[in-house]
Amino acid sequence: MVYPRPIEKLIELFTRFPGIGPKQAARFAFYLLKENSKTVEELSESIKELHKKVGFCQQCFKSIERDSNTRIHSNDSNILCEFCRNKNRDENIIMIVEKEQDLLNIERTKKFNGLYHVLGGIISPLDSSAPAKLHIKDLFERIKKLLILKKEAEVILATNPTTEGDTTALYIERILKPLEVNPHINGDAGVKISRLGRGLGIGSELEYADELTIKEALTNRK
Ligand SMILES: [Zn+2]
Repeated sequence: MVYPRPIEKLIELFTRFPGIGPKQAARFAFYLLKENSKTVEELSESIKELHKKVGFCQQCFKSIERDSNTRIHSNDSNILCEFCRNKNRDENIIMIVEKEQDLLNIERTKKFNGLYHVLGGIISPLDSSAPAKLHIKDLFERIKKLLILKKEAEVILATNPTTEGDTTALYIERILKPLEVNPHINGDAGVKISRLGRGLGIGSELEYADELTIKEALTNRK
């Protein structure tokens, strides 16, 4: 049996969402079919406006709302998020996270006062094109610039302790290698690279880790 075409189309679209299988997708589609027109309109309006109303910090790639306060108009080249604009935060320490949800979880612990860099994904060993989709080149350039200004920087790799997270961390370490402290190449300027402590445990994801675990992992970074 097949559903009417518009429903099939919606189900197909929902299955593209992370973690959504065909059964859940069908549940969403039928929910929308039953729902009153106001909810449906609100939903489609929010989706349509999403890219128009949300931009990304040009330094750390965290999402930000485009409004008059942050002065984001047609020209996005100089916009910074609330963290990157905050002069009380230590710009020499940059924590690398896979996604924004991880950033918020670390922020909640109030134990980290540096800045972030949101990769926007992770490298899967099966997807060789993945590194190009992440903000890794931007990270390299960001640290290079920082080293010229400040001579030293610390990078904390906070990718998740999963196979993909480890692959991503190793890849970034390799990319940043030329910027590490090396008297022959960089003089006394260089970046120190550490990995968020293993306190997180194998396979546990930052997004779901509790505050105490993250605090410990931060203290035990090496
Ligand atoms: Zn930022």
